[in-house]
Amino acid sequence: MDNSALVQMKGITKTYGRNAASVQALAGIDLELRRGEMVAIMGPSGSGKSTLMHVLGLLDRPTSGSYYLAGQDVSRLSGRAAAKLRGNRVAFVFQGIHLLPGLSALLNVELPLVYGRCASAERAPRAQKALEQVGVAHLARRYPTEMSGGQAQRVAIARAVAAAPDLLLADEPTGALDRRSGRTVLALFQELHRTLGLTIVVVTHDPLVAQHSERIVQMEDGHIIRDEAVSDRLIAEVGDDSGTEERRTPA
Ligand code: ADP
Ligand code: MG
Repeated sequence: MDNSALVQMKGITKTYGRNAASVQALAGIDLELRRGEMVAIMGPSGSGKSTLMHVLGLLDRPTSGSYYLAGQDVSRLSGRAAAKLRGNRVAFVFQGIHLLPGLSALLNVELPLVYGRCASAERAPRAQKALEQVGVAHLARRYPTEMSGGQAQRVAIARAVAAAPDLLLADEPTGALDRRSGRTVLALFQELHRTLGLTIVVVTHDPLVAQHSERIVQMEDGHIIRDEAVSDRLIAEVGDDSGTEERRTPA
Protein backbone atom coordinates (compact mmCIF):
# COMPACT_ATOMS: atom_id res chain seq x y z
CA MET A 1 0.00 0.00 0.00
CA ASP A 2 1.12 3.53 -0.69
CA ASN A 3 1.71 5.10 2.71
CA SER A 4 2.83 8.51 1.55
CA ALA A 5 1.20 11.55 3.07
CA LEU A 6 -2.10 12.42 1.47
CA VAL A 7 -2.60 15.45 3.68
CA GLN A 8 0.11 17.70 5.09
CA MET A 9 -1.09 20.70 7.07
CA LYS A 10 1.22 23.05 8.91
CA GLY A 11 0.22 26.01 11.04
CA ILE A 12 -3.29 26.18 9.60
CA THR A 13 -5.40 28.98 11.05
CA LYS A 14 -8.90 30.07 10.18
CA THR A 15 -10.44 33.29 11.42
CA TYR A 16 -14.04 34.17 10.68
CA GLY A 17 -15.04 37.83 10.57
CA ARG A 18 -12.93 40.86 11.44
CA ASN A 19 -11.73 42.86 14.39
CA ALA A 20 -13.78 42.66 17.57
CA ALA A 21 -16.30 40.31 16.01
CA SER A 22 -13.73 37.83 14.74
CA VAL A 23 -13.58 34.22 15.82
CA GLN A 24 -10.47 32.13 15.45
CA ALA A 25 -11.88 28.70 14.65
CA LEU A 26 -8.50 27.09 13.90
CA ALA A 27 -5.52 28.30 15.88
CA GLY A 28 -2.54 26.56 14.27
CA ILE A 29 -3.24 23.02 13.14
CA ASP A 30 -0.46 20.62 12.18
CA LEU A 31 -1.91 17.46 10.72
CA GLU A 32 -0.59 14.71 8.52
CA LEU A 33 -2.72 11.92 7.10
CA ARG A 34 -1.24 8.95 5.35
CA ARG A 35 -3.04 7.34 2.47
CA GLY A 36 -5.40 4.65 3.67
CA GLU A 37 -5.70 5.95 7.23
CA MET A 38 -8.98 6.08 9.11
CA VAL A 39 -9.09 8.92 11.60
CA ALA A 40 -11.76 10.04 14.03
CA ILE A 41 -11.98 13.69 15.05
CA MET A 42 -13.57 14.38 18.40
CA GLY A 43 -14.01 17.44 20.55
CA PRO A 44 -16.62 19.69 22.10
CA SER A 45 -19.03 21.75 20.07
CA GLY A 46 -17.34 24.87 18.71
CA SER A 47 -13.83 23.41 18.91
CA GLY A 48 -13.26 23.77 15.15
CA LYS A 49 -14.01 20.27 13.86
CA SER A 50 -16.30 21.33 11.03
CA THR A 51 -14.02 24.18 10.05
CA LEU A 52 -11.13 21.74 9.83
CA MET A 53 -13.25 19.44 7.65
CA HIS A 54 -14.16 22.34 5.37
CA VAL A 55 -10.51 23.30 4.96
CA LEU A 56 -9.48 19.66 4.46
CA GLY A 57 -12.19 19.28 1.81
CA LEU A 58 -11.30 22.52 0.00
CA LEU A 59 -14.69 24.01 0.77
CA ASP A 60 -12.97 26.82 2.62
CA ARG A 61 -9.54 28.42 2.49
CA PRO A 62 -7.36 28.75 5.56
CA THR A 63 -6.44 32.23 6.78
CA SER A 64 -2.81 31.17 7.06
CA GLY A 65 -0.64 28.10 7.04
CA SER A 66 0.25 25.54 4.42
CA TYR A 67 -1.81 22.66 3.12
CA TYR A 68 -0.56 20.05 0.67
CA LEU A 69 -3.07 17.55 -0.68
CA ALA A 70 -1.49 14.64 -2.55
CA GLY A 71 1.67 16.71 -2.84
CA GLN A 72 -0.04 19.76 -4.30
CA ASP A 73 -0.13 23.11 -2.50
CA VAL A 74 -3.85 23.79 -2.11
CA SER A 75 -3.81 26.49 0.56
CA ARG A 76 -4.34 29.35 -1.85
CA LEU A 77 -6.33 27.89 -4.73
CA SER A 78 -8.96 29.98 -6.49
CA GLY A 79 -12.57 28.95 -5.96
CA ARG A 80 -12.75 27.38 -9.38
CA ALA A 81 -9.52 25.40 -9.06
CA ALA A 82 -10.58 24.23 -5.60
CA ALA A 83 -13.94 23.07 -6.93
CA LYS A 84 -12.30 21.09 -9.70
CA LEU A 85 -9.81 19.39 -7.41
CA ARG A 86 -12.54 18.72 -4.87
CA GLY A 87 -14.66 16.99 -7.51
CA ASN A 88 -11.83 14.64 -8.34
CA ARG A 89 -10.34 13.95 -4.96
CA VAL A 90 -12.72 14.59 -2.08
CA ALA A 91 -16.11 13.21 -1.10
CA PHE A 92 -18.33 14.35 1.76
CA VAL A 93 -20.91 12.66 3.92
CA PHE A 94 -22.72 15.12 6.14
CA GLN A 95 -25.17 14.87 8.97
CA GLY A 96 -28.68 14.73 7.66
CA ILE A 97 -28.97 12.99 4.38
CA HIS A 98 -29.07 15.08 1.29
CA LEU A 99 -30.48 12.78 -1.34
CA LEU A 100 -32.58 14.34 -4.05
CA PRO A 101 -36.14 13.20 -3.39
CA GLY A 102 -37.15 13.13 -7.06
CA LEU A 103 -34.42 10.68 -8.08
CA SER A 104 -34.02 6.96 -7.53
CA ALA A 105 -31.10 5.73 -5.43
CA LEU A 106 -29.22 4.82 -8.59
CA LEU A 107 -29.65 8.28 -10.11
CA ASN A 108 -28.69 9.95 -6.84
CA VAL A 109 -25.41 8.04 -6.93
CA GLU A 110 -24.90 8.69 -10.65
CA LEU A 111 -25.47 12.41 -10.44
CA PRO A 112 -22.08 13.57 -9.10
CA LEU A 113 -20.33 11.39 -11.66
CA VAL A 114 -21.58 13.82 -14.30
CA TYR A 115 -19.13 16.39 -12.92
CA GLY A 116 -16.17 14.05 -12.65
CA ARG A 117 -14.04 12.22 -15.16
CA CYS A 118 -16.49 9.40 -15.65
CA ALA A 119 -17.71 8.71 -19.23
CA SER A 120 -21.50 8.70 -19.51
CA ALA A 121 -21.76 5.02 -20.44
CA GLU A 122 -19.78 4.14 -17.33
CA ARG A 123 -21.95 6.05 -14.88
CA ALA A 124 -24.81 3.62 -14.30
CA PRO A 125 -22.59 0.54 -13.85
CA ARG A 126 -20.31 2.47 -11.56
CA ALA A 127 -23.22 3.73 -9.48
CA GLN A 128 -24.63 0.22 -9.28
CA LYS A 129 -21.28 -1.09 -8.11
CA ALA A 130 -21.06 1.58 -5.41
CA LEU A 131 -24.52 0.61 -4.18
CA GLU A 132 -23.31 -2.99 -4.02
CA GLN A 133 -20.20 -2.00 -2.09
CA VAL A 134 -22.33 -0.51 0.65
CA GLY A 135 -24.84 -3.34 0.64
CA VAL A 136 -27.89 -1.65 -0.89
CA ALA A 137 -27.83 -2.83 -4.51
CA HIS A 138 -31.43 -3.94 -4.06
CA LEU A 139 -32.52 -0.37 -3.40
CA ALA A 140 -31.31 0.99 -6.76
CA ARG A 141 -34.80 1.82 -8.03
CA ARG A 142 -36.22 3.09 -4.77
CA TYR A 143 -36.83 6.73 -4.02
CA PRO A 144 -35.49 8.35 -0.84
CA THR A 145 -38.96 8.51 0.75
CA GLU A 146 -39.18 4.72 0.40
CA MET A 147 -36.09 4.08 2.52
CA SER A 148 -35.24 4.02 6.21
CA GLY A 149 -32.80 6.62 7.53
CA GLY A 150 -30.02 4.03 7.69
CA GLN A 151 -30.68 2.93 4.12
CA ALA A 152 -30.67 6.51 2.87
CA GLN A 153 -27.37 7.14 4.65
CA ARG A 154 -25.91 4.08 2.90
CA VAL A 155 -27.03 5.45 -0.45
CA ALA A 156 -25.40 8.77 0.47
CA ILE A 157 -22.19 6.89 1.22
CA ALA A 158 -22.42 5.02 -2.09
CA ARG A 159 -22.73 8.39 -3.77
CA ALA A 160 -19.62 9.58 -1.96
CA VAL A 161 -17.45 6.59 -2.89
CA ALA A 162 -18.70 6.16 -6.49
CA ALA A 163 -16.30 8.76 -7.82
CA ALA A 164 -13.33 6.94 -6.24
CA PRO A 165 -12.14 9.87 -4.13
CA ASP A 166 -8.77 9.99 -2.37
CA LEU A 167 -10.32 11.36 0.77
CA LEU A 168 -13.71 10.71 2.34
CA LEU A 169 -14.82 13.31 4.88
CA ALA A 170 -17.76 12.59 7.13
CA ASP A 171 -18.93 15.31 9.52
CA GLU A 172 -21.10 13.69 12.20
CA PRO A 173 -22.58 11.29 9.65
CA THR A 174 -24.54 9.43 12.30
CA GLY A 175 -25.96 12.49 14.01
CA ALA A 176 -29.40 12.09 12.44
CA LEU A 177 -29.56 8.33 13.00
CA ASP A 178 -30.50 6.23 16.00
CA ARG A 179 -27.53 4.64 17.69
CA ARG A 180 -27.86 1.26 16.03
CA SER A 181 -27.99 2.68 12.49
CA GLY A 182 -25.15 4.99 13.49
CA ARG A 183 -22.95 2.09 14.52
CA THR A 184 -23.81 0.28 11.27
CA VAL A 185 -22.70 3.29 9.28
CA LEU A 186 -19.41 3.44 11.16
CA ALA A 187 -18.84 -0.26 10.60
CA LEU A 188 -19.47 0.37 6.93
CA PHE A 189 -16.79 3.06 6.90
CA GLN A 190 -14.40 0.61 8.46
CA GLU A 191 -15.19 -1.93 5.78
CA LEU A 192 -14.72 0.60 2.96
CA HIS A 193 -11.48 1.63 4.56
CA ARG A 194 -10.32 -1.99 4.62
CA THR A 195 -11.55 -3.14 1.23
CA LEU A 196 -10.96 0.01 -0.84
CA GLY A 197 -8.05 1.46 1.14
CA LEU A 198 -9.99 4.71 1.32
CA THR A 199 -8.61 7.49 3.53
CA ILE A 200 -11.45 8.46 5.86
CA VAL A 201 -11.81 11.30 8.34
CA VAL A 202 -14.92 11.14 10.46
CA VAL A 203 -16.12 13.65 13.04
CA THR A 204 -18.12 11.92 15.73
CA HIS A 205 -19.26 12.25 19.32
CA ASP A 206 -19.62 8.52 19.77
CA PRO A 207 -16.60 7.17 21.66
CA LEU A 208 -17.27 3.76 20.19
CA VAL A 209 -15.97 5.20 16.94
CA ALA A 210 -12.61 4.36 18.46
CA GLN A 211 -13.27 0.76 17.57
CA HIS A 212 -13.79 1.73 13.97
CA SER A 213 -10.79 3.96 13.44
CA GLU A 214 -7.04 3.74 13.87
CA ARG A 215 -6.38 7.14 15.23
CA ILE A 216 -8.21 9.74 17.28
CA VAL A 217 -7.55 13.44 16.93
CA GLN A 218 -8.96 15.44 19.82
CA MET A 219 -9.69 19.14 19.30
CA GLU A 220 -10.29 21.97 21.69
CA ASP A 221 -10.50 25.72 21.03
CA GLY A 222 -9.10 25.42 17.52
CA HIS A 223 -6.13 23.30 18.59
CA ILE A 224 -5.33 19.63 18.35
CA ILE A 225 -4.79 18.72 21.98
CA ARG A 226 -4.28 15.02 21.44
CA ASP A 227 -3.52 12.82 18.48
CA GLU A 228 -3.03 9.17 19.15
CA ALA A 229 -3.27 5.75 17.65
CA VAL A 230 -6.17 3.70 18.91
CA SER A 231 -4.64 1.19 21.26
CA ASP A 232 -6.22 -1.90 22.73
CA ARG A 233 -6.38 -0.06 26.03
CA LEU A 234 -8.42 2.76 24.55
CA ILE A 235 -10.78 0.35 22.84
CA ALA A 236 -11.27 -1.43 26.14
CA GLU A 237 -12.04 1.88 27.87
CA VAL A 238 -14.80 2.83 25.49
CA GLY A 239 -15.87 -0.70 24.75
CA ASP A 240 -18.88 -0.78 27.06
CA ASP A 241 -22.14 0.09 25.39
CA SER A 242 -23.28 2.71 27.87
CA GLY A 243 -22.70 5.59 25.46
CA THR A 244 -21.52 9.08 26.22
CA GLU A 245 -22.64 11.27 29.07
CA GLU A 246 -24.35 13.70 26.75
CA ARG A 247 -26.49 10.91 25.29
CA ARG A 248 -27.67 9.64 28.63
CA THR A 249 -30.49 12.12 28.83
CA PRO A 250 -33.81 10.31 28.51
CA ALA A 251 -35.45 10.44 25.10
P1 ADP B 1 -17.40 22.33 15.68
O1 ADP B 1 -17.68 21.70 14.35
O2 ADP B 1 -16.31 21.67 16.44
O3 ADP B 1 -18.64 22.47 16.50
P2 ADP B 1 -16.96 24.76 14.13
O4 ADP B 1 -15.79 24.53 13.26
O5 ADP B 1 -18.31 24.67 13.51
O6 ADP B 1 -16.86 23.82 15.42
O7 ADP B 1 -16.84 26.20 14.78
C1 ADP B 1 -15.65 26.68 15.42
C2 ADP B 1 -15.85 28.13 15.81
O8 ADP B 1 -15.99 28.95 14.67
C3 ADP B 1 -17.11 28.35 16.65
O9 ADP B 1 -16.83 29.37 17.59
C4 ADP B 1 -18.10 28.84 15.63
O10 ADP B 1 -19.08 29.65 16.22
C5 ADP B 1 -17.24 29.62 14.66
N1 ADP B 1 -17.75 29.57 13.28
C6 ADP B 1 -17.94 28.48 12.53
N2 ADP B 1 -18.38 28.81 11.29
C7 ADP B 1 -18.47 30.16 11.28
C8 ADP B 1 -18.88 31.13 10.29
N3 ADP B 1 -19.24 30.74 9.06
N4 ADP B 1 -18.83 32.42 10.64
C9 ADP B 1 -18.44 32.81 11.86
N5 ADP B 1 -18.05 31.97 12.84
C10 ADP B 1 -18.07 30.66 12.55
MG1 MG C 1 -19.42 20.78 13.58
